[in-house]
Amino acid sequence: MKITKNTPLKTVLKIGDNCEQCGHCCSYSSGFATEEDITKISLHLGVTENELKKKYFEEKTKFNTKMHRPKTKKEGKQYGPCVFLKNKKCSIHEVKPLQCRIGNCSEHGDALNQWFDLNFFVNVNDGKSIREYWGVLNARKPIEGGELKDLVKSKERLKKMLDGED
Ligand code: SF4
Ligand code: SF4
Repeated sequence: MKITKNTPLKTVLKIGDNCEQCGHCCSYSSGFATEEDITKISLHLGVTENELKKKYFEEKTKFNTKMHRPKTKKEGKQYGPCVFLKNKKCSIHEVKPLQCRIGNCSEHGDALNQWFDLNFFVNVNDGKSIREYWGVLNARKPIEGGELKDLVKSKERLKKMLDGED
């Protein structure tokens, strides 16, 4: 199966259904959550969204877009076991964040990470976001739909963005 920027969410979630809950990926980092996930997790844990974010989540910025993800157990460290990893299992499996549900450890891992970036972090209306994304394209070949010309159709606007004028 080929993952492109426009691969539907339900397709990538199907790939994630194969997660065997081995806890391996969760020992090193955590996945980003949508606001809908935050609501579901707070209801699941019986805390307010504010309490949840303060106690268990951290805000991160990628391609000039902010999202939340679970903190690691290593205070202040970017990499380490996710706070929700208990006895090598996800303690919020039923409501875990979207990025944890899309199957990043499958053979499509890199493409799925790019799919997530393109659909949740790269903002085609924000020049800074596009410039930061442009910066990583030197190091990786984008999935289909992830070239700059696919994201910003107007050549003139794209040039302005890359020149820092938009
Ligand atoms: S997604 Fe993570 S927890 Fe699930 S099988 Fe892959 S490595 Fe294990
Ligand atoms: S929320 Fe669950 S699945 Fe996601 S990184 Fe943490 S322990 Fe792993």
